[in-house]
Amino acid sequence: MTAQILDGVALGQKLRAGFKQRADELAAQGTRPGLAVILVGEDAASQVYVRNKVNACAQAGIHSEKYAYAPDVAPQVVLDKIAELNADPKIHGILVQLPLPKHFDADVVLEAIAREKDVDGFRAENVGALMQGQPCFIPCTPYGAMKFFEEAGVSLKGKEAVVVGRSNIVGKPMAMLLMHAGATVTVCHSQTKDLKAHCLRADILIAAVGKAKMITGDMIKPGAVVIDVGINRMQDGPNAGKLCGDVDFETAKEVASFITPVPGGVGPMTITMLLANTLESAERAASA
Ligand code: NAP
Repeated sequence: MTAQILDGVALGQKLRAGFKQRADELAAQGTRPGLAVILVGEDAASQVYVRNKVNACAQAGIHSEKYAYAPDVAPQVVLDKIAELNADPKIHGILVQLPLPKHFDADVVLEAIAREKDVDGFRAENVGALMQGQPCFIPCTPYGAMKFFEEAGVSLKGKEAVVVGRSNIVGKPMAMLLMHAGATVTVCHSQTKDLKAHCLRADILIAAVGKAKMITGDMIKPGAVVIDVGINRMQDGPNAGKLCGDVDFETAKEVASFITPVPGGVGPMTITMLLANTLESAERAASA
């Protein structure tokens, strides 16, 4: 079997096609949707992610503001900026690019974002709402991953889903969304015994670990749908320095029915859903 590729660039473009019109319609009524992005430090990957998000906003007719701080900035400076943005009617979404430097308490920073502007859906209150099945905003990466199932016509009802990774930003919300969609969900992590046995049961396999090519074809059930969230740089070999996922694409695609590539899979969908959440936030503000 050679898997069908779930193309996140193409799906993102399809979903984004209507965004500019929605943004322009809102602007005509006096509300141009606006996103503020806060970046602390000089992490190269974070800088690329922020640049991509700002560019995507421009294409979608969404106003964006970027605030970049030195790695040693005092956390209070960032908290003061968030308070200012919370009160700014031009801004409907506030995103703090993670990870933050070690002297920050990320939870304190995320909690400082107003609930109705938390387009990443990371505040505890929004996490709770997601758990109850009434999300305020769905976290962008798992939200984007879920769109692939719709696109491929894959029903999740009654399926065995295995999520490898239990982070607050990917693994846990991903598991919650799959469960709400009717899948029976197993969450694996660094202390899981016999990861391979769990993965081999999965009709739906989500890899969100951060370890290059750790899930190989022999760990995948024939016909499984594989969503690779990981973004890693290959350390050695002829492709050293290039991006790869948590899944060994070459062996996995021979076993899976559908698979997302890295790059070009979940990454572009994350940005697409950030735009979607920002638009939704602006629409809510305009109709309030
Ligand atoms: P994270 O916070 O580091 O979490 C990694 C998870 O993997 C943890 O739950 C960890 O378990 C688990 N893990 C580590 N080693 C394992 C092993 N050997 N077997 C099973 N589980 C293991 O990472 P994250 O923020 O969720 O991100 C995961 C990956 O997705 C990264 O590559 C990141 O760059 C990427 N990512 C991509 C996007 C996108 O838009 N495509 C967005 C966000 C993140 P413990 O909890 O036990 O430590």
